[in-house]
Amino acid sequence: MNAIPQLPPENVFDWLDTEAEKRADAGLVRRLRARPAQADELDLAGNDYLGLARDKRVVGAAAAAAMRWGAGATGSRLVTGSTELHAELELELARFCGAQAALVFSSGFAANLGAVTALSGAESAIVTDKYIHASLIEGCRLSRADVAAVAHATPSAIQHALSTRRKPRALVVTDSVFSVDGDLAPLGELAEICRGAGAALLVDDAHGFGVLGEGGRGAVHAAGLSASPDVVTTVTLSKSLGAQGGAVIGPRRVIKHLVDTARSFIFDTALAPASVAAALTALNVLKADPSLPTKVTDNAGNIAMQLKAAGLRASLPDAAVISVQAPSAEAAVTWAESCADQGIRVGCFRPPSVPDGISRLRLTARADLTEADVDRAVKVITATAPRGAAA
Ligand code: PMP
Repeated sequence: MNAIPQLPPENVFDWLDTEAEKRADAGLVRRLRARPAQADELDLAGNDYLGLARDKRVVGAAAAAAMRWGAGATGSRLVTGSTELHAELELELARFCGAQAALVFSSGFAANLGAVTALSGAESAIVTDKYIHASLIEGCRLSRADVAAVAHATPSAIQHALSTRRKPRALVVTDSVFSVDGDLAPLGELAEICRGAGAALLVDDAHGFGVLGEGGRGAVHAAGLSASPDVVTTVTLSKSLGAQGGAVIGPRRVIKHLVDTARSFIFDTALAPASVAAALTALNVLKADPSLPTKVTDNAGNIAMQLKAAGLRASLPDAAVISVQAPSAEAAVTWAESCADQGIRVGCFRPPSVPDGISRLRLTARADLTEADVDRAVKVITATAPRGAAA
């Protein structure tokens, strides 16, 4: 048996320094960089796909809601945190997507935790694509279900895991647009597999909502699944809608179940009214201008084609996300920093955030990019590319 160490209080956290050294040796230290309020750099790293985070109508609605309802929600949704704005946003999200009901959470992360845990349990099997978002993975861990994470984009592996499960109830969990490479899940095929196996399908449409489908109704709507009795969608309000918060959208009885049982809904302070108003106004802007989503995908396609033409290993985007492979984690970091030094902010993904171990630049297109913006970005990314970045 190990002896229990006797440590003075000042040494109790010494192990954190040991861990930090290991991360430093592996080049995995993360840095917080403050974003200036008035950015003169071009942002190809954020998730403000429709360019609505600074839209005056959206910001104005947030300010007015804060004046009317206060800076915070004051309590959880079931106590004092629900306002008429929350109810209106839920109604409008459900209507927009063609689903029966919706429930707003304080973030997309909380929506995913709540949905996965409440729709599974010790009597359930969960089958996931192994590249799902971290918030879904945490939901699976907390669920007490049997969890099988199978090969990426391999419906036959999902089918096999479902047919060999040892629990009666089953939930298949996937992203619609995978956040690292921006590739799409075959939602139609997955829904059919679920139907054949008596399983429910939960889709995280964080990167599809506002970008894909008719007028930005999302990937689940595009696959004809938004009114299905066995499909549940989660979204974030912090990407296309430029606000903050998350939501679960789906059958009425699923939403009622979440209100009664989802712990990240019940025990969390409600989303601030300002964020709710911002999301509601952004949704109205999107409804009034259904050309916005197409601008995002057009810009993404244009950036990717130009980078590929310059010889870089860029993914061909299905939505807003473009990934560009780097030869190493260090090269990716230096590349992203060189871009930032020249006024182009890009994302940098490296292990452990990249499940396949390949470090990448991650670029996101926006609806409000001009042709000149795209040209400038491509020029800088290409000129700063490290040795070994070309295909
Ligand atoms: N799902 C996916 C696929 C995401 O990319 C994110 C945000 N990075 C989330 C969920 C979490 O959403 P939020 O930021 O609103 O918590």
